[in-house]
This record gives sequence, C-alpha cells and structure tokens, in this order.
Amino acid sequence: MNKSNNLSESVIFPKGQKITNENFIGQVWLEMLVSNDDTFNCSIGNVTFEPGARNNWHKHPGGQILLVTGGKGYYQEEGKPVQVLHEGDVVKIRPYVKHWHGATPDSWFTHIAISTNVQKGNVEWMEPVTDEEYNNLK
Ligand code: MN
Repeated sequence: MNKSNNLSESVIFPKGQKITNENFIGQVWLEMLVSNDDTFNCSIGNVTFEPGARNNWHKHPGGQILLVTGGKGYYQEEGKPVQVLHEGDVVKIRPYVKHWHGATPDSWFTHIAISTNVQKGNVEWMEPVTDEEYNNLK
C-alpha cells in the first residue's frame, strides 16, 4: 500500500489523539508537534481528517500556514470559491480571514497547521460548515 492510500495511519508524524470538541464535523486527529512559547510565538500540529471531516468556520488573530502532507482536502475563505488541496500545497491564511479546512468527501487529508503570532490571540470559532454548504461547494 502506498502512502496516499494509507492516510488513516500516520505517515511522517504521529496521528495523535481524536479531537473531541464541538469545532469539528467528523473524526479528526491532532498531534501537537510544537507547543507555543514566548520565544517562537507559534504552535505546530499535525492534523488528520477522515473523509468528509472538516472544521467549523474560524479566524486566527495571528494567521495560520497549512502544509499539506497527504490526501485531498478543501480550503475555503468566506465569499471565495473552494480550493482543492493536494500533498505539497502551502496555504497562507492572513489574520482574521474567515475560513475553514478539511477533507474531501472521498479522501483522507493530512496537513501540518502552523499557527503564527499566537500572542495576538486564540482561534475564534464560528458556525459549522453545514452538509448543504459542504455538498454544494463551488
Ligand atoms: Mn484555520
């Protein structure tokens, strides 16, 4: 089995623990790789989404960078078309841009999420991406 068919298992970094909070739809796993501190002001996590899983709409006061490590995913900013993401893609999310990210319906998806300038504040979580929105993406 090659890497891209084996994304439900860890590929490079550990898959981590299931996220149990209400800010996600579907099963999502997180392994924190770098915890924030006063020197780096950033946190880095490996995030794994099962097919169809995604996070709610949200904003990062200090911005975020996504490094796609496997599978096929979606990234969408409010009012813009969805972007389809593949291994090797890099997404720079500017502070306070409302967005969501997650897997496509038919593929696992993994990315490294780098939260930058985290001294500027925590993620602001908003409403879910409804099934209607998710199933009718443009
Ligand atoms: Mn984000």
